[in-house]
Amino acid sequence: MLRLTFFLAGFLAVLDFYLAESTPVQVVSVLCVIVTLGVALLWPDPLPLPPSLDLWSEAPETKEREMKHCPNCGKTVDQKWSMCPYCSKKV
Ligand SMILES: [Zn+2]
Repeated sequence: MLRLTFFLAGFLAVLDFYLAESTPVQVVSVLCVIVTLGVALLWPDPLPLPPSLDLWSEAPETKEREMKHCPNCGKTVDQKWSMCPYCSKKV
């Protein structure tokens, strides 16, 4: 519908261009034709659907990070770490 309206506006601008006798009006009409027909041709029709509201509800539950304990100080350290950030000992 919106695309059709722009096409109609472009058509009216073309008509205006042919009927106008002064140069400024013709220039404005040509610009109007370019803009309206450009929008009419490039406008995505139909508009893309908005993302569904439950898009994020299916996200997997937050996985607990793999943890281990430092053998030296006993603090909890991330599984990936090879060195304890608290006591700088190898875990
Ligand atoms: Zn430690």
